[in-house]
Amino acid sequence: MSKPKKLFIKTYGCQMNVYDSERMAEALGGQGYVETQCADDADMILLNTCHIREKAAEKVYSELGRFKGLKAEKPDLKIGVAGCVAQAEGEEIMRRQPLVDLVVGPQSYHRLPEMEAKTRQGGKALNTDFPEEDKFEQLKKRPKAKRGPTAFLTVQEGCDKFCAFCVVPYTRGAEVSRPVDRILSEARDLVERGVREITLLGQNVNAYHGAGPAGDMTLAQLIWQLDKIDGLERIRFTTSHPNDMNDDLIEAHGTCDKLMPYLHLPVQSGSDRILKRMNRSHTAESYLRLIERIRAARPDILMSGDFIVGFPEESEADFQATLDLVEEVKYGYAYSFKYSTRPGTPAAERPQVDPAEADDRLQRLQALITRDQRSVQDSMVGREVKVLFEKPGRLPGQMGGKSDYLHAVHVDDADVEIGDLRRVRIVDSAANSLRGVLA
Ligand code: SF4
Repeated sequence: MSKPKKLFIKTYGCQMNVYDSERMAEALGGQGYVETQCADDADMILLNTCHIREKAAEKVYSELGRFKGLKAEKPDLKIGVAGCVAQAEGEEIMRRQPLVDLVVGPQSYHRLPEMEAKTRQGGKALNTDFPEEDKFEQLKKRPKAKRGPTAFLTVQEGCDKFCAFCVVPYTRGAEVSRPVDRILSEARDLVERGVREITLLGQNVNAYHGAGPAGDMTLAQLIWQLDKIDGLERIRFTTSHPNDMNDDLIEAHGTCDKLMPYLHLPVQSGSDRILKRMNRSHTAESYLRLIERIRAARPDILMSGDFIVGFPEESEADFQATLDLVEEVKYGYAYSFKYSTRPGTPAAERPQVDPAEADDRLQRLQALITRDQRSVQDSMVGREVKVLFEKPGRLPGQMGGKSDYLHAVHVDDADVEIGDLRRVRIVDSAANSLRGVLA
């Protein structure tokens, strides 16, 4: 039997990339690859890139430059670039960095086996098309392996919203929803392989409108179909746009026991003037009223959000409106970033905020968010929550998992197995996690 080849994948960015990296590893498993955690051991290195951060492409080029010595030592080593930078830069990557053998965009991962074979014959392989066939169906043709208790499942890709700061509509293309039967079959397959919690992924997941047996289904209707799967205990979804938070999805948060009380609903700014310039097509007020309705359906829901600070032309008064919105919502989690230009997006051309001013605003916003996050987390002490155990903790005998609200929870001397869903009484709150005892 021939020795397995080793694959090293470095994943940047969002959960969609984590999911895609898993699918790429599975697709290349059919070519005799097993994953390694060490680039020095690898026969193939894949960088699964993200275009969200500032100078993302430059960072990929500098990362690639580090493999020069390794490629000189191992001429058979193949180096590939996947993800949004691959989609945005395409052939330019091979031109600027000749040691790259393969460039593959997010819509073409099912083509990886044939692309890898081409590189083994000494060629270069490039595919950044948006093909007609369903890449997920092609990727499903793979050996089945046991899985951990949680998994991501992509249900929707791309976005038509064109927020002025975002590259997703350009790198991932227009919104496409996968058909319901294919998602259900992948979900059943995951559950058979040990998964108990599924997070439905999409760049704009609540805009889901996949074909069902009697017409298109909404995300809420899809969730109710998933709810029927025995053995699947928890359903989450991310990331949502406020304008696609339909009545049936809000209602499902109040009535579907498997749908977890956690919602990531980015707002980006609290200023209507900036929201308009961002092309967000909602206002701070409409967002706040939406949260009221969601909390009326599910009072204990933990809200999570995203913010961009220092967006072009943001004034101190605009920023103050963001702080006011944060004060009102009281997020359990929130992610905040300083605006950075993404070439090709409308906002990149506009007058930029002084970087020192933007830094200062970011620190002030993060201080407020951290205060609320901590207070929401601390409010769990004394409560009983359900925890899905995912892995051993750092201390001997300790096990770690996530509560329904997505808080990390550790239990010392826990008589539980990975994959167990147990009630835990929270006894302490540390910086980034809770400690509990089995109830
Ligand atoms: S809705 Fe999200 S993915 Fe779509 S353009 Fe706006 S920020 Fe990007």
